[in-house]
Amino acid sequence: MDHYGHFIGGKAVKSTSGREQDVFQPLDGTVRAKVALGSKAELDAAVANAKAAQPAWAATNPQRRARVFMKFLELVARDNDALAELLAREHGKTIPDAKGDIQRGVEVVEFALGIPHLMKGEYTEGAGPGIDLYSIRQPLGVVAGITPFNFPAMIPMWKFAPAIACGNAFILKPSERDPGVPMKLAELMLEAGLPAGILNVVNGDKEVVDAILDHEDISAVGFVGSSSIAQYIYARGCANGKRVQCFGGAKNHMIIMPDADMDQAVDALIGAGYGAAGERCMAVSVAVPVGKATADKLVEKLIPRVESLKIGPSTDPSADYGPLVTKQALDRVRGYVDLGIEEGAKLVVDGRGFKMQGYENGFYLGGCLFDDVTPDMRIYKEEIFGPVLSVVRAHDFEEAVRLPSEHEYGNGVAIFTRDGDAAREFAARVNVGMVGVNVPIPVPVSYYTFGGWKKSGFGDLNQYGPDSVRFYTKTKTVTQRWPSGVKEGAEFAMPTMK
Ligand code: NAD
Repeated sequence: MDHYGHFIGGKAVKSTSGREQDVFQPLDGTVRAKVALGSKAELDAAVANAKAAQPAWAATNPQRRARVFMKFLELVARDNDALAELLAREHGKTIPDAKGDIQRGVEVVEFALGIPHLMKGEYTEGAGPGIDLYSIRQPLGVVAGITPFNFPAMIPMWKFAPAIACGNAFILKPSERDPGVPMKLAELMLEAGLPAGILNVVNGDKEVVDAILDHEDISAVGFVGSSSIAQYIYARGCANGKRVQCFGGAKNHMIIMPDADMDQAVDALIGAGYGAAGERCMAVSVAVPVGKATADKLVEKLIPRVESLKIGPSTDPSADYGPLVTKQALDRVRGYVDLGIEEGAKLVVDGRGFKMQGYENGFYLGGCLFDDVTPDMRIYKEEIFGPVLSVVRAHDFEEAVRLPSEHEYGNGVAIFTRDGDAAREFAARVNVGMVGVNVPIPVPVSYYTFGGWKKSGFGDLNQYGPDSVRFYTKTKTVTQRWPSGVKEGAEFAMPTMK
């Protein structure tokens, strides 16, 4: 059985905290590893290490820093199969989906190769008599990332690649539920030529997170996870004077207009609603058909598709989705299905009875479909994070714009229609951060930027893309004059650019 300690100063180190937690293999419910729950002292050691290593890394020219990532990309490609298998075994998602998790992280690493270009400053010659002005972007120093279980490859890469490419040292606190892949990524960065101490992984729970938030040598914290923790981390990190960005939960709606291509819409809902067992922050969890005829047709087509979903162990390449991450997650999602029935929603497909033959202790749940869900129900208001899709019937376009706009989450939303006018108006008016038009999971490509609104995002700047360079650097502006320039003696009035 693996025992994950930490990765500090370029090597795996055993934990001294004396606290550990089980890491499960969701496909059969066994414990496949133990992960250390680190202490404040261990976090302090990682920060001291990062702080000592960072100035030399910041002084390394940006292209040489980028070359480490070029090599890292080769190594991730070399080890892709092994990484995907480990990811699937610890998380529960299928191996093809695990490869997608790695690939969407890799794309942000590819973006980071161009960061030398984005770090260029500005220059004004002759801003005043003999005076030139320029601005430069400098790294912040030591920064940290706290990441969720559901994308154990992608989100760590979204965080550490731009931060390190900008010249920072990085402390990663991955999810304690699937820490294996983040640990491997840190080893690969070292093999790619990253100096020891620039990427440290400290495993743990709230104790390490609080130590990160209170550490005076950590300048910035990036978080991804549930909204209540996001809000807590944002408040405590900001109160300690740090730069903080936190991305939280979601309730992503998909609007189906009467003129939509119904088969395309159904395919989209099945993939985006049930892929990864619904454990994606961009999963579609609410379908909003507009008008009774559209709703009846949609539900009629969805029922057989949900009933015939192929659920299987993560190692079965033909499975549509695998188990949930833990028994606790399974119980929570089943609890929401029970609640939906109590609240009066119509459960038209009930996956609660599903058992995976040969894997009876795995954390499986069959696909569930609710019809007649209304906005006052908790199953509509709260994030379920499982293979459960709710149909909320809207009377007209106005109601369809209002539902996602008034929901407290605002991560992603999609509209399916053939009407460009309706789509354009929807995209302009809807109060949500990322919009898809006939695209159910509108995760922007790596050179744009990712971030939800309202309770789905706390802070000013998004993750990856140009925003990440702004987040992980600070701007210094230099106003200079040389002795050969104008000599007028001491000036006592406020200097202006006369
Ligand atoms: P989580 O909030 O339970 O955990 C996220 C991180 O916070 C983990 O590293 C965990 O160790 C830490 N943490 C947990 N409880 C804590 C506490 N009390 N104090 C301090 N730290 C704590 O989230 P999760 O279950 O791992 O991930 C699923 C959630 O993440 C969902 O809500 C999903 O929507 C969200 N998510 C959002 C995005 C996005 O970009 N908006 C992306 C992926 C996932």
